[in-house]
Amino acid sequence: MKLTPDLHLHTTCSDGLLAPEQIVPRAQSRGLNLIAVTDHDTLSGLERVTAMPGITVVPGVELSASHAGREVHILGYGVSPEKTGLKHYLVALRAERRERAARMLTLLQKAGLMLSPDELDGISLAPGRMHVARLLIQKGYVKDTHEAFDRWLSKGKPGFVSHRPRVPSEVIRMLRADGIVPVLAHPARIKLDFLELEALLTVWQDAGLQGLEVYHRANEPFERYDRMAKSHGLLITGGSDFHGDPSHPDMGDLVAAWSNRDEDGHRFLEAVSHTLPQ
Ligand code: AMP
Ligand code: MN
Ligand code: MN
Ligand code: MN
Repeated sequence: MKLTPDLHLHTTCSDGLLAPEQIVPRAQSRGLNLIAVTDHDTLSGLERVTAMPGITVVPGVELSASHAGREVHILGYGVSPEKTGLKHYLVALRAERRERAARMLTLLQKAGLMLSPDELDGISLAPGRMHVARLLIQKGYVKDTHEAFDRWLSKGKPGFVSHRPRVPSEVIRMLRADGIVPVLAHPARIKLDFLELEALLTVWQDAGLQGLEVYHRANEPFERYDRMAKSHGLLITGGSDFHGDPSHPDMGDLVAAWSNRDEDGHRFLEAVSHTLPQ
């Protein structure tokens, strides 16, 4: 079977707008046959993803870490609620997210916006900046999420609160200890020069990193990252980072640009196969 993969998708369980039940039907209508759901810091959407013949769903997660003050996102593939290291980690992360959301709202209130710190209570298991952005739109303070990030939520702006810093190598080791396949998400977003990134890849590979998300919109032109993954012997993955909103690509949008998707997809599947139901 030829693979048409999209390995980076969010649902309403984190900051996406499509419910988990709607993910597979949409993947089918977009011609995909291999997908991964990768919500931020929660696995709660996974059991709600409905199965359909002909579409393989890899259960995943996206975790935030930081290196020298820069955000580093790690995708973990082959997760399951029984994996206890990850489970404990996620409980702590979500508590931090709730506190952080309230702190962001407090800062925005101090900056003069009519908001209260409890306004996002209960909105999501993993509340984040996207939820604050949508609240600012709803209240008429900004016209879209880009403006929300540019004016209020990006680093250095009045509502910014960083995640508690976590070392990428530790996140990677924690995932590997649970048999989960760690992949570095959208490397271009880290905004490091290539030599620095190459050096860090080596460090993170020593910790257990297995793949590089080459086919992500942020990485264009992709060839440099494709070469980098090959020279490091890393799996090559890709995905739209679908959130069901206009500020991210649509599901399957990266497939056309992913020239070796069949071969890369099969290598990826082999690496996660021990975690999938037989
Ligand atoms: P958080 O983990 O709470 O810091 O939120 C990060 C999320 O915000 C990312 O996963 C994206 O979905 C979204 N995001 C980050 N920067 C932007 C931006 N400039 N415009 C729109 N969405 C963004
Ligand atoms: Mn997101
Ligand atoms: Mn990310
Ligand atoms: Mn993402």
